[in-house]
Amino acid sequence: MKNKKNTFWHLLIAACTVLALWSIGAVLIHCQTISTVKTEDEINLAGTLNRIDMIFDTVNNSLDKASHFYNGHCDEMVTSLRQLASLSPYSRSFSIVENNVIRCSSLEGNISVAVSEYFKEKQKLSLSYGPIPSSNTLVINLKRAFQQMDIIASVPGFYFYNDIAGRNNSEQLYLNINGFHLNSLGQLRAQLPERPGTRTLVQASSRYDYKLTYVLPDSYTLEQYYQSAATLFYVFAAIGPLAGIWLYNFLNRPKSLRRKLEMAIYNGEIQPWFQPQVDTSTGELIGCEVLARWISPNDGIIPPNQFIPLAEESGLIVPMTRDLMQQVKTWLLAEQQKISPGFHVSVNFSSSHILSNEIVEDCRTFLTGIPEDLIRLVVEITESEVLNDHKQINDILTQLHDLGAIIAIDDFGTGYSNLSYLQDYPLDILKVDRKFIAQLEPAIAQRHLIAGIIDISKKLELRTVVEGVETEKHVESLKMLGATWLQGFYYGKPVSASEFTRTWLNKTST
Ligand code: C2E
Ligand code: CA
Ligand code: CA
Repeated sequence: MKNKKNTFWHLLIAACTVLALWSIGAVLIHCQTISTVKTEDEINLAGTLNRIDMIFDTVNNSLDKASHFYNGHCDEMVTSLRQLASLSPYSRSFSIVENNVIRCSSLEGNISVAVSEYFKEKQKLSLSYGPIPSSNTLVINLKRAFQQMDIIASVPGFYFYNDIAGRNNSEQLYLNINGFHLNSLGQLRAQLPERPGTRTLVQASSRYDYKLTYVLPDSYTLEQYYQSAATLFYVFAAIGPLAGIWLYNFLNRPKSLRRKLEMAIYNGEIQPWFQPQVDTSTGELIGCEVLARWISPNDGIIPPNQFIPLAEESGLIVPMTRDLMQQVKTWLLAEQQKISPGFHVSVNFSSSHILSNEIVEDCRTFLTGIPEDLIRLVVEITESEVLNDHKQINDILTQLHDLGAIIAIDDFGTGYSNLSYLQDYPLDILKVDRKFIAQLEPAIAQRHLIAGIIDISKKLELRTVVEGVETEKHVESLKMLGATWLQGFYYGKPVSASEFTRTWLNKTST
């Protein structure tokens, strides 16, 4: 169930990542397209500007030639000007200007028209219907000053029309002279038409007095996107799913053992199991030892020797024990009616927990809310861990005593330690390791090593729990030797809380 939930979230995160990358890609492709298309448009516009400049350059050359015919007498010049007009590319007519008055036109001969009708002050290019003087054809007039006169060349507008056509129907180019806009249909407008959804590019000629205005749609076609940013398109099309797959695999990667254990504690997979402890002479239940089990949904029941060392190394042992105690407390409170007063609840503590001082607070929390006299908390500390810091351990054990807990030395006899600590520390119970019970039988019991251990503990007024009791002979021998309490498979293996309630608590309450 949990796994399915995780898979769903991992899939969702991976899918969101793919979408996020594709969104970033879309933004980049859009920006790239804007920039590429703008550059293309600018190049396109510059090309048109260049071609129009070239038309004016040609006209300018013709004006040079026209200036050579000037002799102040229109009748004599007009034939040469007419010939020039018919031979020159673009120029339809030439007009000679003296003192701002047009005096001589290749078309009309002698005339007298004020230049101001065609050109504003200092203006060198104008649009008019002409050629000068006026007619129906739209012309562009180019005026050039020479020493004694000015000459005007009139060029029909249609020479420009082709160049100011857009690349397609949705584009418009305008030739802008003296505030008027000429389009490719030869239409003149005083103002550009307002077209929503369009953008404009403007470029001015550096040599002639005109501008070009490019009006383009403000959106881009799929083709433009593809042509401008094909590489980006393929890169993001591929990167999105690849990143999603990688992320999904990364999230689903096997967790480190530490992380697994952390999650197991968090998910309540570490559970307390209980092994009964009985009175040696009567065989009656006096308490239980709490033994951790990892109930893994994938791997089944994992015994403590496979995860306690890891929990100790990683520091997870403290939160794990705290969690176990909370579960034990909940169980005890639920079953309190079935429990005989003074019931021993033995909990195993690791040295790191004891030395962290937190043990006192954790035991206080555990005992708070449990009716007084219902249980007796037994703090089990392994022998080898008692020896290090004499003063600190003594302080802690005293505080635990003050809380009403009792102290048991676990695995006694396995630590090769100086026995004097049995006297130095405020201990209550000595738990004899199960290795001492080997070959124990009534006939040799008095000569057995375990007899000596029980003897010492009696002298020190300690009570004993002998572990690993598996046979009838063990029980008989230990009765004979006077061990206080017994624990072992002979009475019962560690079982779950519900099983313990069923097998042990229901039995004692009846
Ligand atoms: P321990 O504290 O010495 O616990 C007694 C171990 O002996 C238990 O093993 C128990 O199942 C086993 N045992 C009891 N009676 C017999 C018997 O008659 N014959 C045999 N062959 N074995 C018997 P378990 O439950 O596998 O625990 C192993 C060790 O893991 C414990 O040894 C204890 O050191 C550690 N441990 C278990 N739970 C916890 C815990 O919550 N915290 C800490 N710090 N250590 C724990
Ligand atoms: Ca123990
Ligand atoms: Ca033990």
